[in-house]
Amino acid sequence: MAMNVVVCVKQIPDPAAPSSLDPGTKTLNRSGKLILDDSDSYGVEMALQLAGNVEGSEVTLVSMAPGGEVSGLRTALAMGAARAILVSDDSLAGSDALSTAKVLAAAIRRAEPDLVIAATESTDGYTGTLPVQVAELLGLPSVTFAKSVATDGRNLKVERQTEAGYDEVECPLPAVVTVTAGVVEPRYPSFKGIMAAKSKPVETLTVSDLGLDASQVGWAGARQEITDVSEAEARSAGEVVVDEGDGAERIVAFLEQVKVV
Ligand SMILES: Cc1cc2nc3c(=O)[nH]c(=O)nc-3n(C[C@H](O)[C@H](O)[C@H](O)COP(=O)(O)OP(=O)(O)OC[C@H]3O[C@@H](n4cnc5c(N)ncnc54)[C@H](O)[C@@H]3O)c2cc1C
Repeated sequence: MAMNVVVCVKQIPDPAAPSSLDPGTKTLNRSGKLILDDSDSYGVEMALQLAGNVEGSEVTLVSMAPGGEVSGLRTALAMGAARAILVSDDSLAGSDALSTAKVLAAAIRRAEPDLVIAATESTDGYTGTLPVQVAELLGLPSVTFAKSVATDGRNLKVERQTEAGYDEVECPLPAVVTVTAGVVEPRYPSFKGIMAAKSKPVETLTVSDLGLDASQVGWAGARQEITDVSEAEARSAGEVVVDEGDGAERIVAFLEQVKVV
């Protein structure tokens, strides 16, 4: 059965470039070029593999980003996704996690998905809350931390990573699944893919196109506030243990002290 697989794709400031916070709002400066979050390249790859198994299936990307940014979407389109929906609107500035989920849920609903894939957490915000909020808003089952995903077009079969190993979880489609970085190896876009991506459709929507009220999103709708940001503590140098014949005992004593053994 042909499937429409939707992938949530976050476009983020390049983690390799210097970043800055807005001094007033303490939010990340996202004004420059944004790239495909590496976490989402796994979701895109997973979607392409699942869609590739069933003729007629397609992958649709959904993203919310400022300034009409499509650079990260073009990368995912070059990997092989068919189309993208971008939500971009000045009124979205200041959107917290729940407002972002409301926007993404409304955009995903329009795409009429059989399956929604997202990463377990993004690289820049890493709250890990978005996908389950989207599932709740859409009234869909959600399965998180997938290390493998299989579907027959009606049901979803997931190996869900746990601390001890994995659980086997099944649920009916449509559903939302979050994938870990171990799920698949993302492909590199080919030259042909990069050229083809330039002409693939990207539908850009505003908040009102989605039927949402501007008071539900952005600073107006935010229920979270960033009250303080501080530097992470510098890592102190570790203790050097010189083995004088009692090295093993001293290591075991240290591990017992920190309750590792
Ligand atoms: C008070 C406040 C103000 C903020 N203001 C802004 C702002 O002005 N501009 C801004 O960009 N951010 C802003 N943020 C951050 C923004 O709320 C989060 O980045 C957003 O909610 C996603 O959270 P996350 O990255 O932790 O998602 P996670 O739950 O860690 O993400 C998991 C997965 O969900 C999907 N996903 C997450 N976000 C998106 C997205 N935008 N598009 C598509 N898929 C997505 C991806 O697959 C991602 O890997 C603000 C946050 C707060 C608290």
